[in-house]
Amino acid sequence: MEVFDAIRVWEPLLEFDATRMCELLVGLPDVEVLGVERPEPGWLIVMIAAIESRPSCARCGTAAWVKDRRTVDLTDLPAFDQRVVLRVLRTRWCCPRFRCGVGSWTLEHPEIAPAGHVLTTRAGRWATEQVGRYARSIDEVAAALGVDWHTINTAVVAYGEALLAADDDRIGTVRALSLDETLFKRQGRWRTQRWSTQIVDARSGQLLEVVEGRDAAGPARWLAERPEDWLRGIRWAVMDLSGPYRATFDTMVPDAEQVADPFHVVKHANTKLDECRRRVQNETLGHRGRKHDPLYRCRRLLLRAEERLDHRGTEKLTGLLRAGDPRGEVAYSWHAKEAVRFFYDIPNPTLAGRYLDELGVDLQDTEFPPEVRSLGRTLVRWRDQIVNWHRARASNGPAEAINNLVKRVKRGAFGFRRFRHYRIRSLLYAGRPDWNLLATVTPRWGGMPPGRVRRLG
Ligand SMILES: [Zn+2]
Repeated sequence: MEVFDAIRVWEPLLEFDATRMCELLVGLPDVEVLGVERPEPGWLIVMIAAIESRPSCARCGTAAWVKDRRTVDLTDLPAFDQRVVLRVLRTRWCCPRFRCGVGSWTLEHPEIAPAGHVLTTRAGRWATEQVGRYARSIDEVAAALGVDWHTINTAVVAYGEALLAADDDRIGTVRALSLDETLFKRQGRWRTQRWSTQIVDARSGQLLEVVEGRDAAGPARWLAERPEDWLRGIRWAVMDLSGPYRATFDTMVPDAEQVADPFHVVKHANTKLDECRRRVQNETLGHRGRKHDPLYRCRRLLLRAEERLDHRGTEKLTGLLRAGDPRGEVAYSWHAKEAVRFFYDIPNPTLAGRYLDELGVDLQDTEFPPEVRSLGRTLVRWRDQIVNWHRARASNGPAEAINNLVKRVKRGAFGFRRFRHYRIRSLLYAGRPDWNLLATVTPRWGGMPPGRVRRLG
């Protein structure tokens, strides 16, 4: 009795067409599922063939003949907790007219996989989103699909570049444009530093582009390719204290007002303080800082912001400076750094400007150590750019929203060997492409080697 009931329940399902069922599971248009096998636990091979109508010869128009059929293995997305390989039966066609001279050919099926690649289209898109959008590591994604690092990297670069090329609206109106140098890698025996420049919308924090080098050429070339009215929309040109970027802005967006990024201004003051500490260390003790030297011991306390020093920290700093800084030069430099930081606490732009003018002159007083005088000269030289920050901020709300995303990209950037890979990963992560377009783009391989697939069965 119970057995009969069970059969009755299943009866409607038995009427399902098994072939149709397989095609639904595989989920690709116009394919025929030929079979499924499991060569080893955890792996599934699905054999399919694309349904093709007989093509004609491109030269003479005669209906083609089948020359032969061969299989190609493509790695697909995992299904049912198993890694999946699509084994595609591909037909090679040829012209029946012997004297036509056309060789054999196969038809492309980009909805299954782009020609020449070993990941299916949907696996390639998935991998690109995992790595590009969610910043998962290539190794992690490669392990999930059961392929090697190069296969995933090739897919990310190819689909990523295609996505960015298709996304015409990615770069909108930009009111505040920022240039920022980033160490991209260290190269060779001497660990030579290779630099890149990040071009960022300073209001929204969107990464617009990454170009090689930190000179004026890269960003200038990029700006030269922008439409004129886009360039005219830039009101603020934000930068560190670097001559090349200033020159870039001077020539490419002369009407924009230049702004020195506060982070870099304070960093410059800290650098001068550090230089001073090391010089005094050397002059008083005749060697570079060692573990027990007072100036070496306070090197981190010196760089910390004053309000972040507690009572003990202040005591310790004062004591160490008394012991290691006989002429008070390091202390002067420390005060200079704090004075620069205080500039950013002044809410009123006019007052802030007056304060900076006085500070720049004061710091150049001959009684101060050379590092402090140099800082003073820098403040005078970059006076307008530094003061403009108060107006740029006041006019449009806080500009600090940039940093988090770009920092994460930077942190991840040191593993890259090729600029092309670094650029695409940065832009996919912090460049805000329209990820909806990923489903519509066809990658361009650009001469990269196709990946390798694990051979099964
Ligand atoms: Zn022909």
